[in-house]
Parts: sequence; C-alpha cells; structure tokens
Amino acid sequence: MELLNALVEKGLRRELPTREEALAVLATSDEELLDVVAAAGKVRRAWFGRRVKLNYLVNLKSGLCPEDCSYCSQRLGSEAGILKYTWLKPDEAAAAAAAGVAGGAKRVCLVASGRGPTDRDVDRVSRTIEAIKEQNEGVEVCACLGLLSDGQADRLRGAGADAYNHNLNTSEATYGDITTTHTYADRVETVQQAQAAGLSACSGLIAGMGESDEDLVDVVFALRELDPDSVPVNFLIPFEGTPLAKEWNLTPQRCLRILSMVRFVCPDVEVRIAGGREVHLRTMQPLALHLANSIFLGDYLTSEGQAGRADLDMIADAGFEVEGAGEVTLPVHRADAAAAAGGCGAHASAGCGSHGEAEGGGCGPCGGHAHGAGETAQPAAAGAARTDLVAVRRRGTGTDLPPNA
Ligand code: SF4
Repeated sequence: MELLNALVEKGLRRELPTREEALAVLATSDEELLDVVAAAGKVRRAWFGRRVKLNYLVNLKSGLCPEDCSYCSQRLGSEAGILKYTWLKPDEAAAAAAAGVAGGAKRVCLVASGRGPTDRDVDRVSRTIEAIKEQNEGVEVCACLGLLSDGQADRLRGAGADAYNHNLNTSEATYGDITTTHTYADRVETVQQAQAAGLSACSGLIAGMGESDEDLVDVVFALRELDPDSVPVNFLIPFEGTPLAKEWNLTPQRCLRILSMVRFVCPDVEVRIAGGREVHLRTMQPLALHLANSIFLGDYLTSEGQAGRADLDMIADAGFEVEGAGEVTLPVHRADAAAAAGGCGAHASAGCGSHGEAEGGGCGPCGGHAHGAGETAQPAAAGAARTDLVAVRRRGTGTDLPPNA
C-alpha cells in the first residue's frame, strides 16, 4: 500500500505526514488494518525496539473537582460513584508508589483532581516527591496537578519531579464543547510552563468523545507542534453519571487506527495507551503494543484496570519486554535534548495523564476491567455499550485494600 510505505519512510525520518495521510490512516478498512498496524509497528520498533515502559498512577486526591470536564468522573456535579478523598499524606503516597515500582513500573504519576494546585498544594506534593525518591532509587516522578501558576513548575522541578502531565484532550475547535471552565489555551500554556522549567512534558488526547477524524488529526498535529516527550492516548470510558455516559463510539479496530495515526505523526515520542485500554481494545490489547511503547500498570485513577500480573503476562506473551529502570526510554536525540534542557534526560519520557485522561477519571486515566462471572458470552456489536467492562476503583489508595500492581 503506497500510503503505508510513505508513512513508514516519513516515520523513520521523523518527518511530519500530511493531514491527508493522517486522515487516510483513520479511514482504512478492516481488511487493511493489519497492514496499517504492521507499518506503524515498524516505526515503533525503529525508535523503541520491543520495550514497553510501565507507569503507575497514584491518585493523590480524588473527586470533588470544581471544573466541568465532561469526560471526567471527578467533575463538578458528577454522579459517578467513585472514591472521593482529599490529599494523601506523603508516606501514604510513597507506599502506593512503592507497590507500583515493585510491580515493574519505572515511572510514578502523581495525580490530583482540581483546577490547579495552590502553593500549599505544591509544597505538599514536593514533600511527596521527595519521599518517593528517597524510598525508590532511580524512579521517575511525573506530577499531574492541573493548570499551573507562575513559578509552580520550577518548584516541582526543584523538588525532584521529572515530568509534568497535562493533556490537550481534543481539538481546539471542539474544546469548548467538552469543558467550559477553562480553555484549550490554558492547557497549552501549562504544558509550555512545564517545558520551560525543564520538566519532561507529557500531553495527550482522549478519543471517543464524539469527535470527528479531523478533530483527532488536529489534536495530534497540535501535540506534535507542542513537542511533548510522551503522548498518552486515552479512550473515553463513558462513566455513568457523567455527560458523556452514552458515548460508546469506539471499537478495537478504531482504537488501533488511532494509535497507528499517533505513531506516524509522533514517531519518536513515547506513545502510551492510557485509560480505556481494557474497555475498548479488549482482546486486541496485545496488538496495540506494536504501536505504543508504554502503558499504565494495574489500576487507573477512578476505575480498575486488569490485574497487574495480566499486564506483565500480556507483554511477555506478545514478545515484548518491560523496560528496565536503567534503560533510556527515548531515542538518543530526544533524550539528549531533554537532558540539555534540564529534564529527565536519561530517563526522559513520560507522563501519566490527568486533567485530561480519558476515563471519567478525573485528571487521569481510569480504565476498567472485565467482570461477568456467570454471564452468557455475547459477541459485542461495533461500538456497543460495554458498561460491564467498567469497574469503579475500590482498592488501593483511598481504601483499606491493597493496590493492584
Ligand atoms: S479532568 Fe481534572 S480539571 Fe477536569 S474535572 Fe476532572 S479532575 Fe477536574
């Protein structure tokens, strides 16, 4: 297929595809899908080999957000039955982080609901970062606290944060349909503040919110221009009790096309499958590892993922390997640039996702997992609601039960 050959060549040269080429990837047929995945997989392997980076989410503060992001289970007026709690203490967060690191995570993503941190919140998160770094040598820490005010990125960097996540989520043209309490420009500015402070920027999108192919291409091209080190790709989990509860638009095939398009447009960037992996890719998750080089281990912010052990088995069974703490995530040209900027450098990559990860999970990915014991198996119709796959998180931080890592 001429289109795919051209895209592979461009990906290997880090050359931006045209918008038409990106749209054409999204428009491919099911018959062409394996060829699309194989082509994007060549680009993924060229820059990231067969390594899969594991990231672990710690939800520092859950629910009760004054913002109105429609996709988010923690939003103002959300009726989703999620865990709600205020700030974890540094030692509680460090214990949660340690569970993720013990499970193989190389990066810990500290996420808090809310519009953005106060200076006191930044102090609190700084103490948490220090506690995590003291107890887990070599771990990368990404903060995801919402919109930043002047000087806060520098303070987080000074406390030892390696990265900052803030997602663009959707196209500039449709941003106002999703959220009214802050703007697309606010989000861009926060990512740029993080970059200016020498933090590795993590910024991604949410697919499945009713957007068009053009919107998806717009946001991915905007991300390429913003040049984050990592791009989390969330697939909307339509949480009951949120305005997007009925938006079950995705199929596993559609998710694979979206991930392929992201890989072609952002070839040398850490592409992470974030919230919605289990719910929307379902049995196709291993195929998506040929496109993305990063996933979250275990649970998400407000929903449960598949067992951490299942994540590790999936990676091994698909012929991939978990990236070790001593390995460099990014291709050398990006890692060197990040190090020169004062960012994570050798560990540069990143991000978690919040204040924009898909789920209904607040500022972060939420995910979901299969239940269904005793249910009669039925083939899923394309884009059919799969509420049976969405499980509100009831373990780990904010509960008395051990975390899934
Ligand atoms: S995404 Fe973040 S800012 Fe938006 S409602 Fe959720 S917690 Fe609040």
